Amino acid sequence: MPRILTLGEIVVEIMARDVGQSLGAPGVLLGPYPSGAPAIFIDQVARLGVPAALVGCVGDDAFGRLVTARLAADGVDVSAVAVLPDATTGAAFVTYRGDGGRDFVFHIADSASGRLGAAQLSPQALQGCTHLHVMGSSLFAPGIVEAALRAVAQVRAAGGTVSFDPNLRQEMLARAGLKAALRQVLAQTDIFLPSGDELTLLVDAEDEATALQRLQALGVREVVIKRGAAGASCIHAGGRSDVAPLAVEEIDPTGAGDCFGGAYVACRLLGHPPEEALRWANAAGARAVTRRGPMEGASTFTELAALLGRVPAPAA
Ligand code: ADP
Repeated sequence: MPRILTLGEIVVEIMARDVGQSLGAPGVLLGPYPSGAPAIFIDQVARLGVPAALVGCVGDDAFGRLVTARLAADGVDVSAVAVLPDATTGAAFVTYRGDGGRDFVFHIADSASGRLGAAQLSPQALQGCTHLHVMGSSLFAPGIVEAALRAVAQVRAAGGTVSFDPNLRQEMLARAGLKAALRQVLAQTDIFLPSGDELTLLVDAEDEATALQRLQALGVREVVIKRGAAGASCIHAGGRSDVAPLAVEEIDPTGAGDCFGGAYVACRLLGHPPEEALRWANAAGARAVTRRGPMEGASTFTELAALLGRVPAPAA
């Protein structure tokens, strides 16, 4: 049986109700919603019925309990989530611009999530883990980089596989050492899930074709390109698959890439071929944007099948 592990930030998200509203206006705020890119990813995995575990830190507070209770209710093993008595759970504040962009204020690096370290990767946390997912955006502190690289090495040494979503935001790239750490992860990645210029950025390529060649030379077996409202593509051993976006009403785009990634990786580990995994992932990303709150759109196979208009097929 597959078991998917990820590690990283566990936070709540508080958002403006409508596009163009600033956080300061009265009556604007919605939330807290459970959030954190790795937490959303692993929640999506669990909702598809695949054993899933998360390593991270929360404070001994209501925000931390809110997120861990949701994850546990959805089936995520949170036994390796540390509850720190002297730190608070992280938070992200989001407003939506009229041009479709989003502005974030993060309280994460100084939160409990910033304390994640390699010591938390106990044998129990890694036990039975057949696949590790790394979120590049989680690697914001040296201790977390060390933990991620150790987890990658241990999972691979035990015969497991690794997926990697850079999930970069522009302001992160200035961070010293981040690009080098991302490249170290990439060199040990089986399934790479970039969006936008993340495909070319980490391999210093000028175009998509060159990037794909370089990724193949590094040993990356599958490249799954997320294209937002334009759908997605997958380049794999059998060739290339493209999938058109599903027609949905976008309410809140936050979390779409994480749900897409969780569904893709879960389906691959269930034995579905890449083009089939891509169809489910495309549906997971599409359904995610129809729900307000980043984790609220994580889907079951039945919900995805309803969107795809067909009967669910949880195992290949
Ligand atoms: P990321 O947040 O990682 O950049 P994307 O925004 O590209 O991720 O979303 C991931 C996937 O979710 C897309 O590749 C697509 O399959 C699906 N998706 C995202 N936005 C929409 C949308 N507005 N309509 C339909 N599908 C969408």
